[in-house]
Amino acid sequence: MSSITEILHAIPVDKLTGSISVPVYQTATYEQEEPGVNKGYDYARTGNPTRKVLEDLVAILEGGHAGFAFATGLAAIDTVAKLLSTGDEIIAVDDIYGGAYRLFTHVYQKLGIKIHYVDTTDAENILDYVNDKTKLIWLESPTNPTLKVSDIETIAKIAKSVNALLVVDNTFASPLCQKPLALGADIVIHSATKYLGGHSDLLAGLVITKTEALSDQIKFIQNASGGILGPWDCFLTIRGIETLELRVKRQCDTARQIARFLEKHEAVDKVHYPGLESHKNHEIAARQQNGYFGGIISFSLKVDSSDNAEKFVTNTRYFKLAESLGGVKSLVCQPSKMTHASIPREKRLLSGVQDSLIRLSCGIEDPRDLLQDIKQALELVQLEKKEVAV
Ligand SMILES: *Cc1c(COP(=O)(O)O)cnc(C)c1O
Repeated sequence: MSSITEILHAIPVDKLTGSISVPVYQTATYEQEEPGVNKGYDYARTGNPTRKVLEDLVAILEGGHAGFAFATGLAAIDTVAKLLSTGDEIIAVDDIYGGAYRLFTHVYQKLGIKIHYVDTTDAENILDYVNDKTKLIWLESPTNPTLKVSDIETIAKIAKSVNALLVVDNTFASPLCQKPLALGADIVIHSATKYLGGHSDLLAGLVITKTEALSDQIKFIQNASGGILGPWDCFLTIRGIETLELRVKRQCDTARQIARFLEKHEAVDKVHYPGLESHKNHEIAARQQNGYFGGIISFSLKVDSSDNAEKFVTNTRYFKLAESLGGVKSLVCQPSKMTHASIPREKRLLSGVQDSLIRLSCGIEDPRDLLQDIKQALELVQLEKKEVAV
């Protein structure tokens, strides 16, 4: 693991002035000494010194050959998808992030790329779909919102055996908990909007590549398509990464305490958290997530109704009702009515997104305050017993 010391000191002191913090090069272009002769930068879509610091930093963070910064997580995903040509196929985790599903199904399928959505929690399921057209295997682990875990190392071997690239969206785990490239993945992507930015104050996306050949291809598409991250947001993302380890360790610790509390609560039905022994793939998570299980928990209620969940999500004081996750302030959401509202109910239920499912993103507040907040909100929730008595 790259230590916080290594990360902090991989951020260079400015050579020109000695500035300890990274200068924001807010420029579109660079003066040339003669046509074609410059100081390494010619136009800011192609390169920007602030962006370069961020891109080098995330390559170190994920243990890759190079990093690339984009305006959003989806712009990063879109860039990787552009490695494909008509006729190619993708095998993707079945409860993939909704925005990635929309992009693959409604944009790339139209261009003649076939996508198979597969339950990758059992790696063997992938074997039914691989063929000589398979170019990408696309994983998220843990997934949103039911925190399903897939075995990255085993699936990397399958990908290698069919000459496909393994891409892991590492947004939910963050690089503190999981290093997919070390487990055999070829490309890591992030919505840096979440843990890397860490303060819910920007949108950003990242691609980190394992080999020089892949870096060259991504660099070409980044410049050709142009969805780069602006210098100010690069600065903010760098600043977020400086405290990543402190924040995420705290968030994992808090999430574990809350998950244990929820597991014993009489109003709660299922608790999804990879750190609980009751989680289906707890052992894989423990192995590949270095003992850190992330800051996100989801749970359903014994009385499984949307109204019942609404009582909880509208009565928390510190957990603010909002989409997104990974920031210093805690957030709560009800996927069936928010992030997953566009998925037909039957399909939603099959993937474990019940009407009463609630997702928590633990922030860095005092864990005692967060536990108390959850306790008081759960007191307002309907219990099965009461329903029977009525
Ligand atoms: C939020 C998210 C994305 C998309 O990122 P944006 O920055 O919102 O474009 C992709 N994957 C996962 C797992 C996410 O949570």
